[in-house]
Amino acid sequence: MPGRGIKERLLHRIERDAVVTLTQTMVRTPSHINHTTHEQEMAKIVESTLLEMGCDVRFQEVEDGRANVIGVLKGEAPGPRLFLNGHMDTVPPGEMTDPYSASIRGGRLCGRGSADMKGAIAAMLVAMGAIAGSSVELRGEVAFAGTVAEETGAAGMQCLMDSDIVEADCCIVGEPTSLHIGVAHKGIEWLRITTTGVAAHASLPEVGTNAIMHMARLIARIEDELKPRLEQRTHELLGTSTVNIGTIHGGERPNIVPERCAITVDRRWLPGESIESIHKEFTEIVTSARDLFPDLDVSIERLPEIANVWHGPFESAGHSAILEVAANAVKQWSHKPEIIGLPYWTDGALVQRRGIPTLILGPGDPDQCHTIDESIRVDRLVAAARIYGQIILDLCGPKGDSP
Ligand SMILES: [Zn+2]
Repeated sequence: MPGRGIKERLLHRIERDAVVTLTQTMVRTPSHINHTTHEQEMAKIVESTLLEMGCDVRFQEVEDGRANVIGVLKGEAPGPRLFLNGHMDTVPPGEMTDPYSASIRGGRLCGRGSADMKGAIAAMLVAMGAIAGSSVELRGEVAFAGTVAEETGAAGMQCLMDSDIVEADCCIVGEPTSLHIGVAHKGIEWLRITTTGVAAHASLPEVGTNAIMHMARLIARIEDELKPRLEQRTHELLGTSTVNIGTIHGGERPNIVPERCAITVDRRWLPGESIESIHKEFTEIVTSARDLFPDLDVSIERLPEIANVWHGPFESAGHSAILEVAANAVKQWSHKPEIIGLPYWTDGALVQRRGIPTLILGPGDPDQCHTIDESIRVDRLVAAARIYGQIILDLCGPKGDSP
């Protein structure tokens, strides 16, 4: 079709250098929790890129001067509303030797945030810019939101979804998928479980109640009773529900019967489970332990990092139009994509929960996230810009110009 030719030519004109340069600028701009302005210098880069292409741009303050930045490319006529998203924060550089070099080595662009997920943000913006600067007349609109605080609890996306700033018919979150299409991930729950006993001198342990021994019994139950139950629950893309005891603290000195012991627990849950059912299971473990140890004193509380924002599982709704469009675009510019479940949680869960069909699709490799030698393939970056461009054109391009 003649229309296909126009699209292809437009997307071919997206230059490697444009995507690489913008990614480098972003990687060279620290945006982690220990950086003075957190992700706000990164937000300025996103803002100026959106302004340059003629978007309406606004900030939405989330907390302490930290703000989401949102730009909208408005079409000439009514039509589908596409929402593109990337989080602007990264994890701290940790032990990385040169986290902000953004140097290119062996076909990869290196540095903190290259894969997770500044490369995707750059590719999305370059795609929007290429279309904004062309003669193509869009229908509907394309919104981009750079969100804050994804790495520290997702307050940015929660704030955006609580507002009516972005109304959309479908969404793509550019978290690393190696350009496969992510349609599901697990939810997260974090709990602190504390046993309280009675302190006593270690020479007279029978006078006290040992909180560590009580915790040991509880841990054994989590391992022996809960874990096998969770392993029965499976999802075709996500595997099983899991539980991990991540920390343990208790006691003061060898010669004191410990009064308190606490563990923190990470529980990854599947669609079909709920926060309530998860808590109920832990309560049942405690109850069954108390049958044997009547003096067991246990409290269970949610950790605020996870409890403050809904951290449920993500499951893209059925066979949505965006899935077909995205799969075709990836196939055209890179490879035949697989439909995958993701090992990590994303802001996409909050967008899908709002009723907006959402996919996770980004050029980074999931195994690069948070590593000390984080990098992204340059050819994937360029392919991603063309893929996002193709998706914009297929959804919001002029009628009659679709394949
Ligand atoms: Zn990420």
